[in-house]
Amino acid sequence: MTLPKNQTAFVHRHGDKPTLDKTTIEVPEPAEGEVLLKVGAAGMCHSDLHILCSDNPIPLDFVMGHEIAGTVVKLGQGVDKDAFPVGRLFAVHGPNGCGSCANCRMGVDNQCQEENHRMYGLGRGGGYQEYVTVRKHSLVPVPDGLSAAVAAVTTDAVLTPYHAIKKAGVNSFSRVLVIGLGGLGLNGVQILKVLGAHVTCVDLREDPLRKAREYGADSAVTSLKNAPMNVDAVFDFVGSNKTFTLSIKHAKPTGIVIPVGLADVNLQFNQHLLSQREVRVISTFWGTSSELMECLELVAKGRVDPQVETAPLSGVNEYLKLLEEGKIKSRLALVPQ
Ligand code: NAD
Ligand code: ZN
Ligand code: ZN
Repeated sequence: MTLPKNQTAFVHRHGDKPTLDKTTIEVPEPAEGEVLLKVGAAGMCHSDLHILCSDNPIPLDFVMGHEIAGTVVKLGQGVDKDAFPVGRLFAVHGPNGCGSCANCRMGVDNQCQEENHRMYGLGRGGGYQEYVTVRKHSLVPVPDGLSAAVAAVTTDAVLTPYHAIKKAGVNSFSRVLVIGLGGLGLNGVQILKVLGAHVTCVDLREDPLRKAREYGADSAVTSLKNAPMNVDAVFDFVGSNKTFTLSIKHAKPTGIVIPVGLADVNLQFNQHLLSQREVRVISTFWGTSSELMECLELVAKGRVDPQVETAPLSGVNEYLKLLEEGKIKSRLALVPQ
């Protein structure tokens, strides 16, 4: 296969305006142990907005897009062509674990300890381009029958809620509250129902509430005023001070609050309320590569059905604006032309 010399990429420039810079760059060569993928789809996450608006600045220039799936086009030295056949569709484990630090060796490869560690689309080149180089151990084969768009959004919009839900130890006796039903939250509801939990969800928009009911949510309401108290766990996919405070109130004594969303950089809590009731606040970040394999399997079996719409990558800046305005219905997967 003859590869083009150059490609179009959408680059985050540190300190620049809150949009991505459309630019022409060289198609990269895969280094030793790397694979060059042709990007099939790259999901657009609300975290892109937090980085662009400097809630969570990354002082580097890099191609954005951290939910990636693509097909193998070229192998670097030391990559087995039978394990990574040209044309095969793979999902990218975004945290880019090095595979050799203590955390990676323990399987906690979403918390790699490598020096100058960079994740795909979050410091290292991501999916908002036509071709991307990826370390071979970041690649997870996509089960037959799944599209690149579904696989791409599974790498974060399914994996992140899955990891958080596992951390909270949810089971079929759990009563849980889910706040925020965007890309992550709606998949979270489905995972919770697979586990048999009793689920109440809250969002400001009617559309995702309707969708959550279709997924089996026991109750879906527009205000936390109408949500139950004393729940075992609250998954807050907004993460603002307002939702965090209410999450703590709605949790039972000794209950769990997991702020997954990153809306406010500094979260505050009433120490008296938290301490007296021994509410546990648990942090969570993305998920491990073995959990990504589990998520892809759940999706392939049809037990979780990630909502995804595709759109051309060329429109990424307009779509980011729509995401900011709350006008994206589900998850958008951008496809390079
Ligand atoms: P999204 O924009 O698709 O969805 C956000 C949803 O929250 C929308 O449906 C919106 O209507 C709803 N919402 C907003 N304010 C609300 C409120 N006050 N009450 C109830 N609902 C409200 O976002 P997403 O891509 O699903 O991401 C959700 C959050 O998770 C973002 O902050 C993102 O940065 C963060 N995130 C965290 C991790 C992690 O590892 N911790 C990983 C990925 C994303
Ligand atoms: Zn994300
Ligand atoms: Zn590591």
